[in-house]
Amino acid sequence: MIVTMQPGATLKEITAVIRTLEGFGAEPSISRDCGCTLITAVITKTPIEQHLLRGLSGVRDVHEDVHPFKRVSRDYHPEDTVIEAGAAKFGGGGFGVIAGPCAIEDEDQINAVARHVAAQGAKGLRGGAYKPRTSPYAFQGLGVPGLRMMRDAADAHGLAAVSEVMSISQVGDAVEYLDVLQVGARNMQNFDLLREVGRTDKPVLLKRGPSSKLEELLLAAEYIVDAGNPRVILCERGIRTYETATRNTLDIAAVPVVKQLSHLPIVIDPSHAAGKREYVKALTLAALAVGADGVMVEVHPDPSKALSDGRQSLHFDEFSELMSEVRRLAEFRAPVSV
Ligand code: PEP
Ligand code: MN
Repeated sequence: MIVTMQPGATLKEITAVIRTLEGFGAEPSISRDCGCTLITAVITKTPIEQHLLRGLSGVRDVHEDVHPFKRVSRDYHPEDTVIEAGAAKFGGGGFGVIAGPCAIEDEDQINAVARHVAAQGAKGLRGGAYKPRTSPYAFQGLGVPGLRMMRDAADAHGLAAVSEVMSISQVGDAVEYLDVLQVGARNMQNFDLLREVGRTDKPVLLKRGPSSKLEELLLAAEYIVDAGNPRVILCERGIRTYETATRNTLDIAAVPVVKQLSHLPIVIDPSHAAGKREYVKALTLAALAVGADGVMVEVHPDPSKALSDGRQSLHFDEFSELMSEVRRLAEFRAPVSV
């Protein structure tokens, strides 16, 4: 519900609208971005009787929101949300880079990657301790010992630790060791898990499901925000289409669409989209150009020996080259608004 006040509406009139909305169990907020006063009520416990609002003095217009999502909608929160996690920052015009292996394999591996990506300017360290694998016989991740290795490596190199949680039972340990909780593509609509990460105070990196519409991604984010956690970073990682040249089809248009609909930051995962390392640089630069708030890239000391996703993981020298291109082009990037 959005109430537009007449220009010059008095404090008394605005207060009367707020009290009325509160009477319906809403927690209204006020914004003045449009040059007039907008009072928005995201969630109400009982349906709002619009005529009661229309009848109040100083009210110019009352309309229902057009989007099924509310808390993540730009209608309710016109300014971009900026999310900081340790040294990493997403939103507000920057380009945050998270890099690391698909899976944490051992201490040496995660440390070597952390040292390299930090030296090249990454601010977040990725790596799975709980791996969603298509085959039950594939490497499933190191679990809590892996989380400990990641914490140590991230601390040693000043990086934010980013890793996936696949179930509610993993959230407690993840909160202890991580800076950002990742919800993977396969779990985007695991609504109980969304609510659980929504009850934590850690930023959540929410990946788009391989067959999900953007509206469904935003509704999944709404679950997390509605549960009490406003710090959600969206991630486009490619969707399933008939094309087989790449592992998934990167939906680059997700960035302007999401930026129009939502105030949340959105990053691109070029690695899981491409599935082949030779395309990762081009897709990263596309992310930069289209106005994404950052990328998450897979990097491994020896991709030929990686326990998962070696084919799409960058060698160290390829990551260095990618970062120098990012730095070069970032200078020319104007803030992209839609
Ligand atoms: C990952 O980032 O490690 C991962 C498993 O990606 P996705 O959930 O996008 O498949
Ligand atoms: Mn991977």
